[in-house]
Amino acid sequence: MISNQNIFCNKCYNLISNEGCNVSLISDHSFMLHSSLNEPINTYNSENTRTFDRCECIVRDFLCKGCNQMLGYNVVNPCMPCYTGGNNGHFYMYLNCTRTKKITGDVSNE
Ligand SMILES: [Zn+2]
Ligand SMILES: [Zn+2]
Repeated sequence: MISNQNIFCNKCYNLISNEGCNVSLISDHSFMLHSSLNEPINTYNSENTRTFDRCECIVRDFLCKGCNQMLGYNVVNPCMPCYTGGNNGHFYMYLNCTRTKKITGDVSNE
C-alpha cells in the first residue's frame, strides 16, 4: 500500500493532504481513491451531515477552498457493518476529483 501521498484538488491544484493513502477496500474504485487519518487542509466542511448513500454511515462533505468543488467526506459516525468490518481506520475519504503525487519522488512536470 502506498501511503503519505500528497493529495491535490484536480481543478485548482490546492494541496489538501500530505497523508493520503490509497484505498482498495471499496469495490467501486471509480468512486473513492484515497483516504487519510487527519483532517485535510485548504478545505471547509459543509454545514450539514448526511447519511452516506451506500450504507448507514453519517458523513460530512468537505469542499475545496480554492474552487468549491466537493472533494470528499469525513465519516462522523460509522455504521455497524463498516465499523466491525475494520473500515474505521481512515475517516477522511477523498473522491476521484483528487489526484496525488508522492512526497518523496522528484516533482517532474506532467
Ligand atoms: Zn457504513
Ligand atoms: Zn479546488
